[in-house]
Amino acid sequence: MTVRTRIAPSPTGDPHVGTAYIALFNLCFARQHGGQFVLRIEDTDQQRSTAQSEQLIFDSLHWLGLDWDEGPDKGGPHGPYRQSERGDIYREYARQLVDAGHAFHCYRTPEELEVLRNSRREAGLATALKPSDLALPEAEVAKREAEGAPSVIRMYVPEEGVCTFQDRLRGEIEIDWAQVDAQILLKQDGMPTYHLANVVDDHLMEITHVIRGEEWINSAPKHKLLYEYLGWEMPELIHLPLLRNPDKSKLSKRKNPTSILFYQRMGFMPEALTNYLGRMGWSMPDESEKFTLEQMLEAFDIDRVSLGGPVFDMEKLRWLNGCWIREELTTEEFAERLIKNWSYNQEYLLPALKHLQQRVEIYSDVAPAACFLVSGMLEIDDENFRQGSRLELEKQREILQFSLWRMEDMLDWNRDLLFAMLKDLSEKMDIKLKDFLTPIFIAIAGSTSSFSVMDSMEILGPDMSRARLRHALEALGGVSKKAAKKLEKAYRKLDEGASGPEED
Ligand code: GLU
Repeated sequence: MTVRTRIAPSPTGDPHVGTAYIALFNLCFARQHGGQFVLRIEDTDQQRSTAQSEQLIFDSLHWLGLDWDEGPDKGGPHGPYRQSERGDIYREYARQLVDAGHAFHCYRTPEELEVLRNSRREAGLATALKPSDLALPEAEVAKREAEGAPSVIRMYVPEEGVCTFQDRLRGEIEIDWAQVDAQILLKQDGMPTYHLANVVDDHLMEITHVIRGEEWINSAPKHKLLYEYLGWEMPELIHLPLLRNPDKSKLSKRKNPTSILFYQRMGFMPEALTNYLGRMGWSMPDESEKFTLEQMLEAFDIDRVSLGGPVFDMEKLRWLNGCWIREELTTEEFAERLIKNWSYNQEYLLPALKHLQQRVEIYSDVAPAACFLVSGMLEIDDENFRQGSRLELEKQREILQFSLWRMEDMLDWNRDLLFAMLKDLSEKMDIKLKDFLTPIFIAIAGSTSSFSVMDSMEILGPDMSRARLRHALEALGGVSKKAAKKLEKAYRKLDEGASGPEED
């Protein structure tokens, strides 16, 4: 058997460090067994998937030194490797499942589903909708079908009992079927859901080991059943522990920067970041902290992954990066990295220089004016806000927190979208735009004397901008849990109907 592993990222938003972590372990496992590592793009969510995000996944994984054998950019014998190009394949398997009696057309309306869920909830049952809840009398199905009512295809799942499956790191796992819903396989628009596409692709792409994050454990019963229905062998499952914030919560962009682009902009060396990701739940046999990808490939052993939640701690990463800079680079190489690969080059500086050129008189004015663009967190405290703005600190805090929540929900990031968002927020908060923008200026650029803060945020990118806003909130004394609750209430009120901050 040739070992074949894969990652299957969805191209929505910025490339996530979690994707690189999973990619690294898949790559090591495949290489170590002389196998292949595949990159598949799961872009069935057509509203949120973008070509730009896909490109950023390729670029940032390459930046980290991670490469794959087959993928949308490389081709290979099992293509296409983009799910949006495989619609006919999924539709055919969905049809086969219906014909074999393993799946059914469901004509239930959203209103009916809500009523069904509520009645399960009231009866103290899990809210997972079972085939028996969804069933309609045959005549009703025929009527809705004749009317051309919209429908989806759902899979049959057992009403009760226990599903057991094996995980290489965790042993036998049991999940009650009662918690597993009659999963939609094919949506109204004819596109598959994650579950159908994932199982079909893993089989057709001859994946032997599915190495993914532990957040997918609950999906395994559905996948196991689909493999059985289709008469296919299920790959071995290996669920890696999730990356965590230092407070042990799930690593999320609400608390910490999660984008690989952020770490690039901060000035981390790719070798150090890959090294650090290799230490997430795994260690070298001799416990050495600093190692190259080649060394990891040589020593890798998936059975030594430990399940205690690995903490992604930027302070530790900084320390490791310092070791790499001091021990691995000559001064010439250090200079070359800074000037060629990092921010001191035309490509990085051009967007900023376009604005700075209008504001400087001599070249030596440039460095102080551009300093905030090539810095990490700025040295600011509450004095900056007290002196820079005529608004009460409390109000400024509100502006920063509300803007931050809005920024967490933005799918795209550019100066026009940022301007529209901030203008709308200032109107809803009834604060003049100029006053409203002042604390944001201070958070982003350290003072109000810089060029447009929207342009600055576009250049800095979403993670760095959000990190600066969070840092500014800390500089203003932080937001306690209690204060956050109050702010959240006020935020929701501003915007009745809009959802609160979303987890990523
Ligand atoms: N598209 C899923 C993700 O974004 C893939 C999960 C899996 O590996 O099965 O993580």
